Amino acid sequence: MNAQDRMDCDVIVIGAGLAGLTAANRAAELGLSVMLLERQSEARHVCASRTNGGVFHVGFRSVHAAPETLYEAVRSANEGFGPEPVARALADEALRGIDWLKGQGTEFTRLEPDHGWKDEVLAPVGFHDKTEMAWQGLGADRLIARLEKRLVEQGGRSMRGVRARSLVEEDGRIVGVRAEVDGQPRTFHADAVVLADGGFEGNADMVRQYITAYPEHLLLRGCESGLGDGIRMAEAVGARLLGMSSFYGHILSADSLHREGLSPFPFLEFLASAGMLVDRQGDRFVDETMGGHYTSNALARQGDGLGVVLFDHAMWEGIGRHFFCPPNPNLVNAGGTLHRADSIEDVARLAGLPPARVRQQMEQLNQETRLKEAAAGSEEAERRRAMTAYAKGKHPHEPFEQAPFYAAPVCAALTSTLGGVEIDAAGRVIDVRGVPIAGLYAAGSCTGGVEGGPAVGYIGGLIKALVFGLAAAEHIARENLIARENQHIARENLIARENR
Ligand SMILES: Cc1cc2nc3c(=O)[nH]c(=O)nc-3n(C[C@H](O)[C@H](O)[C@H](O)COP(=O)(O)OP(=O)(O)OC[C@H]3O[C@@H](n4cnc5c(N)ncnc54)[C@H](O)[C@@H]3O)c2cc1C
Repeated sequence: MNAQDRMDCDVIVIGAGLAGLTAANRAAELGLSVMLLERQSEARHVCASRTNGGVFHVGFRSVHAAPETLYEAVRSANEGFGPEPVARALADEALRGIDWLKGQGTEFTRLEPDHGWKDEVLAPVGFHDKTEMAWQGLGADRLIARLEKRLVEQGGRSMRGVRARSLVEEDGRIVGVRAEVDGQPRTFHADAVVLADGGFEGNADMVRQYITAYPEHLLLRGCESGLGDGIRMAEAVGARLLGMSSFYGHILSADSLHREGLSPFPFLEFLASAGMLVDRQGDRFVDETMGGHYTSNALARQGDGLGVVLFDHAMWEGIGRHFFCPPNPNLVNAGGTLHRADSIEDVARLAGLPPARVRQQMEQLNQETRLKEAAAGSEEAERRRAMTAYAKGKHPHEPFEQAPFYAAPVCAALTSTLGGVEIDAAGRVIDVRGVPIAGLYAAGSCTGGVEGGPAVGYIGGLIKALVFGLAAAEHIARENLIARENQHIARENLIARENR
């Protein structure tokens, strides 16, 4: 039997998150036959696309900003990391993606219009003002349900309880997927395969390999639906991986590793940026003012992945009361450890840190902070008073001046991984030689090079899933059309030859 006779459909999409459902729906819309394989069996399956805040933005900029502004936002957040045409595609296509979602009946609303980047938020909202992961009935949940329904209405096949395990390759082209269905192996064939199975936060071996030698000290703050299968499958057929070590994360109390009520909030990165974050030897290892994503990555990578945030009373009463569910008083109320003493040495001792080393670090930091403040004059003080927006999670250092002093043991918390397989602007998977792998596409959190990298640039997982889900489907449809035209021409030529 030749490959064409075995085809179950034109395109197989792996994973029913936003990336997969976008690719599947767009492909069906363009006239392709589609099969969507989802590992989980539950109708309302839990995945990142269903359990998020629903804010569509591009590097904390409104999707309505000019493409050039969005492009600059991506390149500067990533500090140049990742393929340039991919950043360009994201910037150029973001708004069209939102319009496409609206065309599917998705409802959006605005939040905090003053900040200007939360103007396309899935409705109804309500995710970010809860101290637990409450997502049922909110915008993201509704979006996933709507897209699944649309797919079936358009004649797409949606299969549950099917875990894709490896890719079928023939003559250098991907022509199918080997999967487990109820524990039994089964192979599906198609002209193209789209990987859209999320990140690898749920795979402890991969987290250990790429992110931290101590996964037991890294709290999983999101859901664990991404198992890294797509990345592994693509790697096995020669795909290049990009930015595997960076993740979207925050800093939480170390007690969250074994105690309820301290995740997903309160964040301790704001106190760390005003005060200081040290390792278990009492040494600073990162510029704490770089914000929560950056510092949580640095924390996970150093030593055993644990650290201590130190601050003074003014910080506890100031920035400590900042943001939704702030550490003051929620950290203590939820039973998180907070040491307190009248001197920095005593609080260091209580936290198991070398007192002399901590004092030295604090004095050095105080000196640097005062110098910076003197150089900046009243502007710096004003900036501090204004409390930097959550958008960047950044806040300048403040001098340690006012007893008592505090120490909170902390860990890094991973919301979602940011690395994965390299793609081009059309969502085609790129191999280690820099060449697209025929028939293989990827979108969403299984892709790398769109965000993350050494600067831990956060561009927005939703817009990434949406734009490259669309791009992959549209490229497959174009290829399909060309192949059909070629077949048609070949058939005509054959008939003409026979009639001669
Ligand atoms: C708490 C939280 C809040 C967030 N808030 C925002 C926000 O406000 N704005 C924003 O831009 N981003 C946000 N994000 C990130 C965003 O939600 C994700 O980046 C995005 O939803 C990823 O979509 P995806 O389709 O790639 O992956 P997922 O949504 O993870 O979907 C992958 C699907 O693939 C399935 N799957 C896995 N392995 C297999 C397999 N082998 N075979 C078949 N199926 C498989 C999974 O079960 C899952 O259903 C947030 C994330 C979290 C966790």
